[in-house]
Amino acid sequence: MELNDSITSVKGIGDKTAGLYARLGIFTVKDLICYIPRSYISYEDPLEIKNLTPGIKQSIRGMVISEVTSRKGRRFTISEFSVKDKSGFIKIIFYNSAYIKNVFRKGLEFIFTGEVKLRGPQYIMEMPEYHSTSDYMKLCSSLQPIYPLTAGLKNNSIKKSINSVSHLIDGIDDYLSDEIRKKYDLIPQNRALYNIHFPRDTEELKKSVHRLAFDEFYKFIYDIRKLKASTERIENEHKISAEAITKTREFIKNLPFELTEGQNSAVNDMLGDMSGDYVMKRMIQGDVGSGKTIVAAAALYANALSGYQGALMVPTEVLANQHYLDFKKLFSSYGINVALLTGSMKQSEKKAVYNELLEGSIDIIIGTHALIQNKAIYKDLGMVCTDEQHRFGVKQRDKLSEKGSFPHTIIMSATPIPRTLAIIIYADMDISVISELPKGRKRILNSVLDTSMRPSCYRFIAGEIKKGHQAYIICPMIEESENFEAENVTDYVQAIANEFEAGTRISCLHGKMNEAEKNEILQSFTAGNIDILVSTTVIEVGINNPNATVMMIENAERFGLAQLHQLRGRVGRGDAQSYAIFVDCKNSPESKERLKVMEESNDGFYIASMDLKLRGPGELFGVRQSGDMPFMVADVLTHADALQKAQEVYLAYGDSVTPSTKLDSERMTV
Ligand code: ADP
Ligand code: MG
Repeated sequence: MELNDSITSVKGIGDKTAGLYARLGIFTVKDLICYIPRSYISYEDPLEIKNLTPGIKQSIRGMVISEVTSRKGRRFTISEFSVKDKSGFIKIIFYNSAYIKNVFRKGLEFIFTGEVKLRGPQYIMEMPEYHSTSDYMKLCSSLQPIYPLTAGLKNNSIKKSINSVSHLIDGIDDYLSDEIRKKYDLIPQNRALYNIHFPRDTEELKKSVHRLAFDEFYKFIYDIRKLKASTERIENEHKISAEAITKTREFIKNLPFELTEGQNSAVNDMLGDMSGDYVMKRMIQGDVGSGKTIVAAAALYANALSGYQGALMVPTEVLANQHYLDFKKLFSSYGINVALLTGSMKQSEKKAVYNELLEGSIDIIIGTHALIQNKAIYKDLGMVCTDEQHRFGVKQRDKLSEKGSFPHTIIMSATPIPRTLAIIIYADMDISVISELPKGRKRILNSVLDTSMRPSCYRFIAGEIKKGHQAYIICPMIEESENFEAENVTDYVQAIANEFEAGTRISCLHGKMNEAEKNEILQSFTAGNIDILVSTTVIEVGINNPNATVMMIENAERFGLAQLHQLRGRVGRGDAQSYAIFVDCKNSPESKERLKVMEESNDGFYIASMDLKLRGPGELFGVRQSGDMPFMVADVLTHADALQKAQEVYLAYGDSVTPSTKLDSERMTV
């Protein structure tokens, strides 16, 4: 067997299984070896029941002391039994798993692993993993890889297959010399690949992830630099006129507010680029609420005044719709024709827009992916702009650019990457940073509360509504589910109805609604016709209603800190004092520590860095906040040191060290 052989040469993989592997992007033995786990689990020695801490995943070893009893619940069958060790008792609960009564017989001993909860005075574990003592002891001494899966392919099968080709890993050559590896403290690539699948301990695994992250960064930097060196800067075919610049400055002067320093210099940067000799490629970086939209609007205006079309691409239909309405209002007295194009529009509406795009009567088009479909043909696209760029892949962005002849591009990002790193990663782009919030904004006041405080939260929200303000309440789920215990918008809306005065307008919003419904509710909310919007995270990106002053997030412990920061960014967008309430439904030591970060800081950079610090040993792979990067292992923030190293190696040896393409970055979408 050799590295480039088809996967079917691996023992146990026939044509049918090969089809499943193909779905994961695995075709050859080498692909299999380079298939990177999503995370790892480690098993700790079991604890005594009396020493358990609720809210954390732990293991106990105990004996089954009761028969399994089953009863029908509202949605599923609940089976339970009791387990004891010498220190205490715990109740084990399974859902829709009637077969377990044949497994857990009275008198047998197992090790149960799962999140421990308190129900009244009693410890419980729901749907735990279970092992025999001897199996568990084997697991205890190792870290177990968890691979990204596809239906029909189990983690254990992948583990087995990789095991049977592991002897080939040693034969993979390293493109880095021993000298460079020593100098930069990098382990050999084959050792890193081996450890990724069979890690001995966390230290060893960290070094391996570091090495593979380095490889991805090095290849990325190498490619982007070579590309940059080979293409001269492209000539500007869409120069804006002097008149356009003057008029854009007037437009800015007439805005109801004054731009911040950061916004002003971003506008100046862009006007400079667009009237210069070369095509603009610029990233506008600014935290949530810093006012990126108006900056893009100014550039799109200058572009339109000079006779070219401009496109603004956003990740969701609701956001497209909102930007569209805002832009229409913004430009209503300026003679600029703004149009909308989204997937859910009627065929006839889309057709009308296609026609206008082609003949050139549309100046600015705002939309989703619909903007890059084949049918959308532009007369002369001078500028493309992507908002919330982390939600798009590089390819989608390029595709939009290809709709024109070398249009200017701007991308807007709230991803908190330090400038030093941004310069490396976005080497082919200029960067404008908006580092301050608009004047008059008050610092959002935060509090983390447990569920017992809900009634006072509702009273507080009622008070804000009396003052004419509005509130968001976020729940993680749409409806009740058997797999997760978390608040859901459907039941929540019913549940809080009685908590508020009659006449309080409460609506619910979630991703499964159709686009028209979503838009209608959001417009109604922005127009002030809804007091409380109970929503899932569909409102996470971009949504703007400056009159909303309360963001209450249920099950805050279930969200990543970066996501909580985005959600919080939906308030504090106007002059009024705003509030963020994080409801910690778990109240474990970990969740408290994490959520404390949200209470302490409103700074996206700080929050991202703390997010990294507080993550567990299984989470070596980064948060991938910068989703437009084609990396499988590497994450700009998590592996900042590997990125710096890759840059140094490139600068010192780039001419002689060609990266190997072992890690195929195109597979990242799995
Ligand atoms: P983001 O950077 O998160 O995309 P937006 O562009 O949506 O932020 O702006 C948030 C809100 O701030 C909007 O209501 C916008 O009109 C307003 N805004 C933008 N710039 C200023 C400014 N300089 N002064 C006051 N309000 C501003
Ligand atoms: Mg925005």
